Amino acid sequence: MSGVTEQQVLAALKNITDPEKGQDIVALGMVSGVTVREGHVAFAIEVDAQRGPRMEPLRKAAEKAVDALPGVLSVTAVLTAQAASRNPAPRPTHVASAGQPHDHSHAPAGGAPVKPGIPGVRAIVAVASGKGGVGKSTTAVNLAMGMVACGLKVGLLDADIYGPSIPRMLGITGKPASHDGKHLQPMSRWGVVCMSMGFLVPEDTPMIWRGPMVMSALQQMLRDVAWGELDILLVDLPPGTGDAQLTMAQQVPLAGAVIVSTPQDIALLDARKGLNMFRKVDVPVLGIIENMSYFNCPNCGHRSEIFSHGGAHKEADKLGMEFLGEIPLDIAIRETSDEGKPITATQPGSQHAELYRKIAARVWEKLGSGDGGLRPAPRILVQ
Ligand code: ADP
Repeated sequence: MSGVTEQQVLAALKNITDPEKGQDIVALGMVSGVTVREGHVAFAIEVDAQRGPRMEPLRKAAEKAVDALPGVLSVTAVLTAQAASRNPAPRPTHVASAGQPHDHSHAPAGGAPVKPGIPGVRAIVAVASGKGGVGKSTTAVNLAMGMVACGLKVGLLDADIYGPSIPRMLGITGKPASHDGKHLQPMSRWGVVCMSMGFLVPEDTPMIWRGPMVMSALQQMLRDVAWGELDILLVDLPPGTGDAQLTMAQQVPLAGAVIVSTPQDIALLDARKGLNMFRKVDVPVLGIIENMSYFNCPNCGHRSEIFSHGGAHKEADKLGMEFLGEIPLDIAIRETSDEGKPITATQPGSQHAELYRKIAARVWEKLGSGDGGLRPAPRILVQ
């Protein structure tokens, strides 16, 4: 069976007319972020903020039109809002910390679309990977710890709803409480506050998620959690660059994204897919972290370059991404991560902790520099 293409999707969407403007939505430039992956299609329809609530029939019609194409297995269309200039998103206002002055007070460029932030949360940054098992969650946890060590107030949202592993990696058990019956209190350990589907459902329970469920779970974890005042909220995205990840990247008001990859995956271009995904939704990629970069022998301390060294750095340069650093494949990282005792928190004097702290400081610095700070992205009105 030949797979559906982006062109076919756009051709189908040309049949959808905006009733108020009398032209098709492709010609009007309302369609963005079209992604097609093995028959799963996702795209966004941009509308003026005020029109959002009336546009649900149009969104449904667009989904239906694409769904009718041969080879399409699922379609996710989201409505995104063009920012009205009088309705700016809450802007992160970083406090100077860890030696970084932060000015996030500049306005977004040229009326670009803006998503509402989370009150009290100054910047939201995604941690993503092209595929599973590369150490994304381990890296997210240790980055969070590194940021805590830099004096930041840090939250960690485990959006990897298919395999939530953050509770185990932080060593948190129990269920989040709610003081007002509306908002969940995040769980707290090692100086970070955290929310994960894993608190609500045991890690080994197979969960079958459908697109809208994924989105409403994510929205709840973002908006119905009493995050409090945070300098940064790290979001551990599910692995991959498919429609779920794309929609998540669109729904969350991200200040930037960090991509975690192993050396061989960088070569296999998984990292490039991640980069493209964030570019599609206008989220700046702050850089790439190479995990399991080299092997530290636990007996003799010898460093083995299992994969040719320097390739990832070169590849990152080629892609125009900053190479944020390399983390070795080391048993101490695995053990501490799997025991719920993140190495950056429990062995702060170790070489690994220092590596994570350095990367954490660099990410924070980039957020303040304007590279990743406040690029606005679409605001979702209706799911
Ligand atoms: P992902 O989130 O990408 O699926 P995880 O963070 O769950 O990956 O890591 C997968 C496994 O690899 C875990 O057992 C973790 O402890 C281990 N791991 C991750 N990074 C390293 C590393 N740098 N050295 C050794 N083991 C690692």
